[in-house]
Amino acid sequence: MDRDDITEHLRFARELGVDGVSTDPSWRAREDAAPRSAEQAQPEPHPEREPEGRTTIALTAVDALAAVRADIGDCTRCKLHTLGRKQVVFGVGNPDADLMFVGEAPGADEDIQGIPFVGRAGQLLTDIIEKGLKIPRSDVYIANVIKCRPPQNRNPEPDEVATCEPFLFQQIDIIKPKVIVALGKFGAQTLLRTLEPISKLRGRVFEYRGSKLIPTFHPAYLLRNPSSKREVWEDMKLVLKLLAES
Ligand code: URA
Repeated sequence: MDRDDITEHLRFARELGVDGVSTDPSWRAREDAAPRSAEQAQPEPHPEREPEGRTTIALTAVDALAAVRADIGDCTRCKLHTLGRKQVVFGVGNPDADLMFVGEAPGADEDIQGIPFVGRAGQLLTDIIEKGLKIPRSDVYIANVIKCRPPQNRNPEPDEVATCEPFLFQQIDIIKPKVIVALGKFGAQTLLRTLEPISKLRGRVFEYRGSKLIPTFHPAYLLRNPSSKREVWEDMKLVLKLLAES
């Protein structure tokens, strides 16, 4: 299903009088629960009538993420689209993931491929996930606070974050991961609305939008400071413990 199909699908639903989208978790827990990967998905609306007569369509996480992606479109909401970004880097992975990683912003490789964490830092993150946690990368979900590459990989600016972060919040609310790992100072401080340094934030568990959030060092920092891998491994053991508990 491409973007035009989704837009058409949503327009058709609106014409039918549908005025809302249900993200009721009972839909996801039902016996014939949605398939766990985009490939397996058969996106079909499930009209249901609520007690007060309001018709809603329960979207699968796949559909709901696709709708957010369609809403972003070829984004021109902030200045980054004029500053050399090639494409929006939305997010990748399992829409029903128990574990989600949130980075900062796409770099050069991500900007070219349209996929988060595919450069050197991405390879290290993949190793942390697959060799460390022993989870296939395709089982987790990976996204960034902002979806477009800042020029020369500078830090995202406050107006860029303010414009883009609602899309990350929507991704989190759709995926509803049990555990979110915030990668680096920027991701952690943005999500937690704090200026505490990452060195103080890591090693702790925060409640965040119904998930447990664990800040840890960014893989790009680990490439420069390999001795900090020890602390990241401690944080990943905490991740595994929380995943096993919940
Ligand atoms: N660094 C990030 O924070 N995100 C990416 O996608 C790649 C590198």
